[in-house]
Amino acid sequence: MFTTNATVFKNYINGEWVRSSGDHNFQSVNPANKKDIVGVFQASNRQDVDRAMEAARQAFPIWANTPLSKRADVLLKAADYLEENLETFATELTREEGKTIGNSRNEILRSAKTFRFYAVEGQTITGETFPNDDPEMSVSTERVPLGVVAVITPWNFPVSIPARKIAPALITGNTVVFKPSSDTPLIACRIIEALHHAGIPKGVINFVTGSASEIGDSLVAHPAIRAITFTGSTSAGVHIHKMASLTTRTQMELGGKNPLIVMDDADVALAVKLTIKGGFSLTGQACTGTSRVIVMERIKESYTRQLIEATRRLKIGDGFTEGVDIGPLANEKQLNNVLKYIQMGEEEGAQLIYGGKRLINEEYRDGFYIEPAIFTDVDPVMRIAREEIFGPVIAVIGARTYDEAIKIANDVDYGLSAAMVTNNLAVAEKFKKDIDAGTVKINRTTTGNLMNAPFGGLKKSSTSTFRESGRIGLDFFTQLKTIYTGY
Ligand code: NAD
Repeated sequence: MFTTNATVFKNYINGEWVRSSGDHNFQSVNPANKKDIVGVFQASNRQDVDRAMEAARQAFPIWANTPLSKRADVLLKAADYLEENLETFATELTREEGKTIGNSRNEILRSAKTFRFYAVEGQTITGETFPNDDPEMSVSTERVPLGVVAVITPWNFPVSIPARKIAPALITGNTVVFKPSSDTPLIACRIIEALHHAGIPKGVINFVTGSASEIGDSLVAHPAIRAITFTGSTSAGVHIHKMASLTTRTQMELGGKNPLIVMDDADVALAVKLTIKGGFSLTGQACTGTSRVIVMERIKESYTRQLIEATRRLKIGDGFTEGVDIGPLANEKQLNNVLKYIQMGEEEGAQLIYGGKRLINEEYRDGFYIEPAIFTDVDPVMRIAREEIFGPVIAVIGARTYDEAIKIANDVDYGLSAAMVTNNLAVAEKFKKDIDAGTVKINRTTTGNLMNAPFGGLKKSSTSTFRESGRIGLDFFTQLKTIYTGY
């Protein structure tokens, strides 16, 4: 047990805030200042998971039969609560995850909007009717909830990712056991608080904090589970997918190695702006973040020069400081991993032409800060060009033709997001068809997705089963019954 003055937060099981039966804790720290302990959380164990599962299992038939408008009311009230507490929660999000306060406000507001969106969209779910030869029979389908759903989420969007899973799960009548990332349990806890405040019945949402090694397998292989909606790394996704039983539906949103292709005719200033926004905002910690820029050789030098100039102007610092563009990396493991890849890039023979050093002077000493890094002379076979780094590191790769650029872009295991900068509509049209990515953008950043549009990856970026977000995001949480009625 840690001794600290920080508040101790509990699990939420069967409508009550409870301690873990093992009474072990862990700390969540501020990545901008590791001496700042944001909170102390329950290091849960298998018994805690079992209790949460049992609560969710028992609540399921009651919640599934609760009128849809009442389920919607809970989501709407939870959205109100998030908005009413915007400043407090945005502050906590920046303190716990490190993103800039503006980004934190946007995330809280987007999460509230997501709850509202599914409160309405969830009411439009319908089945189909099927014509048949028997004049005294009707045949139709009905959508029914699955049962207990496990929601497992990462730290980089610790409110909006859970929101886009929990809201559609609940509105369709499922009950939930939610395990957040251990790097951002406080802000995840606020989602539960919002639902509790909104009057969600006991057992419908349950919240268990703790490490993947301690509770991961007992959660995903639990016999009560009917679905797992997971967002995180591909390696964890592969493991969870294997652990899931035949009767457990899975939705895995995983890593990326997202390319931005800059064509000969591109507006270079725009290409630079999109690179900075896609690659460095959120300190490069977005699954759709730009990590490879494939540039036509003819403009590569001018693009690279302008990219360095623009990167030099970026302000690095605490997310609360006015004008800061890049906050710290979210945790020490992230810092070490990103530094490892930067060193690897140099060892592989790529040229580090800008940044890439850990920042250690007074202002940065207690946080996980690095300078954004730009590599040139990157060969597509290098690991920095193929593996997800999840930090502010850009690999600039030259290409002579469109075909070569597409070949490089597609020659990785991932297929989450990809963008092209061009003014040539014919090339843009061809790109939409040729690129292997679940999100394709023209003259926009690889990052960002609309709440009301489908989101998900191809190849190892996703299980390619069910999309998240938008109306289609409801599909994962329901299954079909086909009903034949003779009369
Ligand atoms: P992670 O895979 O380490 O952890 C994600 C979550 O899964 C955490 O809650 C973690 O505790 C849990 N987890 C890990 N192993 C588990 C196991 N064996 N059983 C049960 N739970 C387990 O990822 P992270 O470091 O938190 O997040 C960064 C990763 O997330 C990056 O790879 C990024 O690309 C990915 N990501 C993907 C999307 C997307 O929509 N595709 C969005 C955001 C982040």
